[in-house]
Amino acid sequence: MNCDVAVLGGGPAGYTAAIRAAQLGGKVVCIEKEPALGGTCLRVGCIPTKAWVQTAHAIHDARETFAKLGVGVSEPQLDFAQAAAWKDGVVKQMTGGVASLLKANGVDWVQGSGRFTSPTTIAVEGGEDVTFKGAIVATGSYPMRPPIPGLDSPKCVDSTGLLAQTEVPRRLVVLGGGIIGCEFASIFNRFGSEVTIVEMLPTLIPQEDVDAARELLKAFKRRGVAVHLERQCTQVDDRGSHLVVHFGEGESVEADLMLVAVGRAPLVQGLGLDEIGVPTDPRAGVATDAHMRTAVPTIFAAGDVAGRWQLAHTAFREGEIAAENAMGHASSLGEPSVPRPIYTDPEIAGVGLTEAQARERYGDAVAVGVFPWAANARAVMSGDSTGWVKSIHETTYGELLGLVIVGPHATDLVEVGVVAIDAESTVETVADGIAAHPTLSEAIKEAGLVALGRAIHL
Ligand code: FAD
Repeated sequence: MNCDVAVLGGGPAGYTAAIRAAQLGGKVVCIEKEPALGGTCLRVGCIPTKAWVQTAHAIHDARETFAKLGVGVSEPQLDFAQAAAWKDGVVKQMTGGVASLLKANGVDWVQGSGRFTSPTTIAVEGGEDVTFKGAIVATGSYPMRPPIPGLDSPKCVDSTGLLAQTEVPRRLVVLGGGIIGCEFASIFNRFGSEVTIVEMLPTLIPQEDVDAARELLKAFKRRGVAVHLERQCTQVDDRGSHLVVHFGEGESVEADLMLVAVGRAPLVQGLGLDEIGVPTDPRAGVATDAHMRTAVPTIFAAGDVAGRWQLAHTAFREGEIAAENAMGHASSLGEPSVPRPIYTDPEIAGVGLTEAQARERYGDAVAVGVFPWAANARAVMSGDSTGWVKSIHETTYGELLGLVIVGPHATDLVEVGVVAIDAESTVETVADGIAAHPTLSEAIKEAGLVALGRAIHL
């Protein structure tokens, strides 16, 4: 089988690259080992978790919000089988959508596991060899398992294992207080599990603004999620009926299930890359330049395997860039503003610099404004006014450096910051622009006004 561009992996990076290369007139083959396209994101990542986030929100609304707004409902009951069916249905619809997109763009999808056998050939297990002019490696990442005694128990699952459960665990221990761990902790807390988080570092979601992490910790404590920071898990005992998870200096907790969410590593093993001259690193993945080109000029890499980020939206962009260069165009990644969405309860999203990063880079020439949702009419009337919007700018030119949002629809609202920061906007542009009233987006403008010392509604 001959083609212009072969794409190894059908996740966000791979399927986007395949479509883009086909749009540019290439004959494209996309090789995916799983029976469905969409990768981690659509099959076992972003999409199924957020389908359950919706179920968790619905429980919260029925339990706490509806009555406030004057809608009487009886105590909500979680129908977990239906929640799982809902999640699976959403996944089926979305992965089917990707298959249709590839077809509509004339991309050939080959199902099977691929391995490079030369700089111009991929051998597909149980199928024909694919010979290409250019190739894009988009094999993603896999969940890491630390070498903790007892972690091989079947009751210790990764995110894929947790998404496949047919019953809600009565007691869930989450190992790792990063994004994935905290998202599942939020979901299963709403589903009725007793949730305990064990995290090695002194903070949850360590890459995010510390005030956002503190807000999440407060919310978890308020809702009865036990959080143990600065604790290493030392051993897990499977007692048959339950687990005993040991951590810190002699502490332990019983659990029915444990989620191991300590990070993901780029999937580079078994692809034949080193053999054809593309160096790989088990932690950093495949190194690429700004054109997503590897050490072999006809081979590109994009997405989690390229090691810059582990996000679907960056994978989409890297896939486009890899495809354009593989098709002979010269496009480059640059330094895009990357939103950091976290679908916890409360929702969190940041873009640009955190306050600490801004102060480290600009010293005293930084101004910060925080506008609480409690002062925003739309948030108050929705019944959910936990959290705030934080605007961060440097004071020499007034350039907006960062936006951090904790609370309702944070992950949608953060796009305002992405566009403003990419356009190198000043804080005045955001603060003096007219926001529709009453909306949640007014809080972004208001946070800018607070930072400028011109707050009207605070
Ligand atoms: P993947 O999506 O992993 O796709 C790689 C594909 O390559 C897979 O389908 C795999 O089967 C295939 N493959 C691997 N090796 C071979 C081979 N040898 N031959 C053929 N095929 C192969 N990101 C967000 O931006 N937002 C979120 O809300 C979010 N939530 C997440 C929740 C969870 C629980 C997890 C685990 C991840 C989440 N992510 C989220 C991260 C996101 O899923 C990844 O960043 C994204 O999927 C990366 O895309 P990719 O194309 O690089 O890799």
